[in-house]
Amino acid sequence: MILKPDQGKISISDTQRRRITELKAGNFFRFRKPDPCFACGGTEFTDVCSEDRYGFQLEYVHCTDCGFIFANPYYTDECLTEFYTKHYTEVYGRGGGVEGTFVGEFMVGRKITRLLRKLGLYEGISSALDYGCAYGGTLAALPESWRRAGYDFDPRQLAVGNSIGLDLRPMSEFASAPERYKLITMIQVLEHLPDPVQSLREVASKLSPDGLIYLEVPGLRASENRRYDIHLAFKNCHRHMFTAASLRNVAAAAGLETLFVNESLEAVLRPGSPKAAAMPAGLEDTLGSVRGRLRETPVKRRFFQLLHDLRRYMHKLGAGRHDFADARKMARQIKLEGK
Ligand SMILES: [Zn+2]
Repeated sequence: MILKPDQGKISISDTQRRRITELKAGNFFRFRKPDPCFACGGTEFTDVCSEDRYGFQLEYVHCTDCGFIFANPYYTDECLTEFYTKHYTEVYGRGGGVEGTFVGEFMVGRKITRLLRKLGLYEGISSALDYGCAYGGTLAALPESWRRAGYDFDPRQLAVGNSIGLDLRPMSEFASAPERYKLITMIQVLEHLPDPVQSLREVASKLSPDGLIYLEVPGLRASENRRYDIHLAFKNCHRHMFTAASLRNVAAAAGLETLFVNESLEAVLRPGSPKAAAMPAGLEDTLGSVRGRLRETPVKRRFFQLLHDLRRYMHKLGAGRHDFADARKMARQIKLEGK
């Protein structure tokens, strides 16, 4: 074993502890058969760790051909649907509350429009679908003149966005929905999906012929993610650990061309030629990055946390201040039962 997630300091609330204990006691998780590597098709793996940050039994493996790290075998589709519908919000309860989380989502939406403008891809977009929309904040930040819809599992989250006039729908309706969109966003979603190649194909089937997918996944190499202890990255809702190279290859396997990607793992894809990806020679060694992070001293980790907080603060004061004001204004309109 290389990683020992249980050594990470994880503080959880009573609600989280109660739900995690119930799931473990009820033997909730069911496993599918092991898969080949999604980035290169390889079938040779070495072990990384055998339980996640909460102590759920889960084998994370490292592909010896390309360095991609993922949980293998993973949970069945039925099991995941039930988990995301009934338990996810409690197990991964966030400190920011509904409004704080909504504001964070909104800021991502504004960042997307800035990036697309910078890349010269913004003009002509008139519709957007957010796959894995949570409270709908990302969608709320996109122009009201666009046709906008979001899909997710937890009806309690969908109710929040719908209370401010967004069109958020249950994930069970996604496959049969007839509409096509110019832009599909997937923010911190792909790492959750058991088969990222198949899921990208399904999502891309809802694109207009000239449509784009904007996606984000956690970047193991990204300085911004350094506020997290690497041990925390191993959580059972994340099956995959991407680098820019492995993301490009997973996209190519789904028939998508990568127009833009960085190591923060913000990417813009479009239906196109999969030949753009070199397999597996172009892939970097994710395990090397993980090992490096694990060797960092607590002082160094704290330094990166502070750096991240400072950047965020400067952003609030600077270019992002209007976006923050807009986000808070909209969050105040959220109507919640019992609020
Ligand atoms: Zn591989």
